[in-house]
Amino acid sequence: MKEAAVIGFPLSHSLSPAIFSFLAQRLGVRDFRYKAREVSPFQLQSVLAEYRRTSGFIGLNVTIPYKQAILTELDAVTSEAKAIGAVNVVHADENRLFGYNTDLPGVLRTLADPSFRGCPVAESAVWIFGAGGAARAVAYAMGKLGAKTVYIFNRNSENAEILAKNMGEIFPKTLFGVVPEDRLSSVEPLALVVNATSVGMKTPAPQSAEPFFEVLRRLPFRAKALAFDLIYNPEKTPFLTLAEELGLATVGGLNMLVEQALATWKIWFGSRDGLAEIKAPLLLHLRGLLSGWGIPQGQPIFLTGFMGSGKSSIGAILARKLGWEFVDTDHLIESEAGLSIPKIFQTYGEGFFRELERKIIFQVGGRLKTVIALGGGALMNPEALDIIEKSGLLIYLSATVETLHERVRPRAANRPLFAGLDAEGQAKKIQALLEARTPIYNRARIQVETDRKAHEEVVEMIMEQLLWEKP
Ligand code: NAP
Repeated sequence: MKEAAVIGFPLSHSLSPAIFSFLAQRLGVRDFRYKAREVSPFQLQSVLAEYRRTSGFIGLNVTIPYKQAILTELDAVTSEAKAIGAVNVVHADENRLFGYNTDLPGVLRTLADPSFRGCPVAESAVWIFGAGGAARAVAYAMGKLGAKTVYIFNRNSENAEILAKNMGEIFPKTLFGVVPEDRLSSVEPLALVVNATSVGMKTPAPQSAEPFFEVLRRLPFRAKALAFDLIYNPEKTPFLTLAEELGLATVGGLNMLVEQALATWKIWFGSRDGLAEIKAPLLLHLRGLLSGWGIPQGQPIFLTGFMGSGKSSIGAILARKLGWEFVDTDHLIESEAGLSIPKIFQTYGEGFFRELERKIIFQVGGRLKTVIALGGGALMNPEALDIIEKSGLLIYLSATVETLHERVRPRAANRPLFAGLDAEGQAKKIQALLEARTPIYNRARIQVETDRKAHEEVVEMIMEQLLWEKP
């Protein structure tokens, strides 16, 4: 079993477990466990010593307040992480620990994204708010991209002076400087302005952005200038809202978060296979989670999956854990029609059943704080799929053909889909239907494999993906 973790203190609402579980699942890495581990400052050395001895341990994500402190605890650190002065990823190889900085590729890849090509940094002037760990990665990226002038503005101006001096020594062709508020008229028109402070973050309590806004309003910008906020929660920060009002193009921190996570995966697993394709689904997944930090807003959770995937039993346990209501659309259809599902199929045919199912989904889609188990074929109706995707969070409970057949076989005689089929015919039918439905099942924002797992275990995995948020 491969093991990785995020360490920090305090460690509330880290997105890392959701990101790396998603990547492991989608990239087919089955023997992988990812933990969020709160490490108090006096434990850092002993925790690292423990990880050195742990077989299967592959690495860490490191967050506040250890990005600097960990530099001296590792066997080696890349020259870039050393120059930036922060390590946010550790890779373990044969009991040795190596430090990396993936905020740097996160910044570089975000600025290289074709959507933001209007912002050439080379030979241009750039403004950075902040002088902490992330600002250091941004300043380093600006030197690497050949910026002409980089202005650093920070609450504590001494930290800004230190950063400007450090980066000036590494990149002598770029002018790094600190401009006091009463000298803003001397600033060259900017191609890029970056918020690398924590001002505007949703948690902990938002801090006033007003002092920065005063400065931002007075800065000169080139045509097509870009405003980049490293903060990803909320996605639209006060800084980006004002930048938009000032006519700037904007980009938030989510793209950078995803890019640095993909760079981390590459360091741990040594391969980029599948990473380019997974970027968009990961962004979508995170956007969904961030839209309400999981589910406290109470949008319904829909469970999909093939017959035998455990939707009804798992849904009932999940609802109990969340303190929500549970409904099973098959039961609602039966009570609406006054007939069992086999009888509905027999008497009125599948078309009638699907129409009734769509109507029921439309009704329950508007309910809050409800876990809804769907029929195995419900998503094949585009209208039903549209209602589900617009109103709630879709979770796919997957299983192999063998597992599904084993589970449904004892009651196969009652299932209209298996009418007249022997065991081999049933397995073939499952295989064919699963192949046809999988592309639609894969649209789910969360996917959990159920093979050889108890229902409670599956529910725990779902809860973990819902970001520890237990209303
Ligand atoms: P850090 O090392 O603790 O630095 C925090 C920075 O914010 C410092 O410059 C600090 O100024 C400034 N600051 C804090 N509170 C302030 C306030 N009330 N008013 C003015 N300035 C204030 O943290 P970091 O690691 O650089 O992270 C900074 C931000 O970047 C965080 O919001 C983090 O979530 C985000 N980030 C995003 C990504 C991503 O992938 N999108 C990656 C890394 C970081 P002083 O020096 O005066 O204290």
